[in-house]
Amino acid sequence: MSLTFIAPPLQQINSEIARRAGVDLYVLRLDLMHPLVNGNKWFKLKYNLLEAKEKNFTTLLTFGGAYSNHIYATAAAGNLFGFRTIGVIRGEERLPLNPTLTFAVQQGMQLVYLNREMYRQRNTPALEEYLRQRFGEVFIIPEGGSNLNGVRGCTEIIDRAMPTAGYAYAFDHICVASGTATTLAGIALSLHEGQRAIAFSVLKNGAFLAQEIESLLTNYLASDLPTPYSSPASWELVCDYHFSGYAKVNNELILFSQQFTQEHGVPLDYVYTAKMFYGVMDLLQHGFFCKGDRLLLVHTGGLQGNVGMEERLQRFSKI
Ligand SMILES: *Cc1c(COP(=O)(O)O)cnc(C)c1O
Repeated sequence: MSLTFIAPPLQQINSEIARRAGVDLYVLRLDLMHPLVNGNKWFKLKYNLLEAKEKNFTTLLTFGGAYSNHIYATAAAGNLFGFRTIGVIRGEERLPLNPTLTFAVQQGMQLVYLNREMYRQRNTPALEEYLRQRFGEVFIIPEGGSNLNGVRGCTEIIDRAMPTAGYAYAFDHICVASGTATTLAGIALSLHEGQRAIAFSVLKNGAFLAQEIESLLTNYLASDLPTPYSSPASWELVCDYHFSGYAKVNNELILFSQQFTQEHGVPLDYVYTAKMFYGVMDLLQHGFFCKGDRLLLVHTGGLQGNVGMEERLQRFSKI
């Protein structure tokens, strides 16, 4: 299974804040790997698609909210690799479809809506049984691609995505925005001695993610999936930059995001990367990192969501 990806560029950020802190800042631009299937969502899908193909499934079924980057990426990847796709969307159908779901349908995805109560059961055998009864033999990928196949794909982000072999060693801290922390777990499993992965929760009350990370790591290490390195995974969780919760924004975040893009030529999405970048810049100003540290900020993509977000913001500002 192959897609033509470009190796994600490693871009240095020349920021006054970083310079004053004596820290080198780099961004790994996973958002530029492919026009449709990019960011961390490709890494989380890769081994799921391979398993589906190996087991001769022809249909993928997965879950997500109406603006989900994962729904978008699954629809596009399914189309590129010849799978039928079914997207189970949380909540009621709203017409006209938003840009994310319009794209999904254009890629051939069949959309199905579940009310919030049923949607909450999405990881239960009972709901999976109901979906199999309704749609036949489908390969089910959890919301966000968040299973051990997803972790496995994410172990390849840092090492394989680096433009030059050995470059991955050059960084002390690898920062990533976290929703389910599957991406963080994969990155943490791929680090070398002395390196640390830092998860920035985009969820309110994100402290619970620490247990999620521990259990993902434990389950992964107990499985027979390959681990790149044997050094114990070193990670940290930062919970202070959720901006009131998932997909919530305020003027400060919007302004930061726009300024950052203008100054450094790196577009950010409001749900994930803007919050992580804001958090890193704030921590730099508060002496969280040491002089001489080298930071890698993983740009996990998600830019497709900005179209829908900007539409919503405009609607609110008119009220
Ligand atoms: C899904 C997503 C994340 C979160 O990934 P997890 O593995 O769920 O923590 C981060 N950034 C972007 C842009 C995403 O779409």
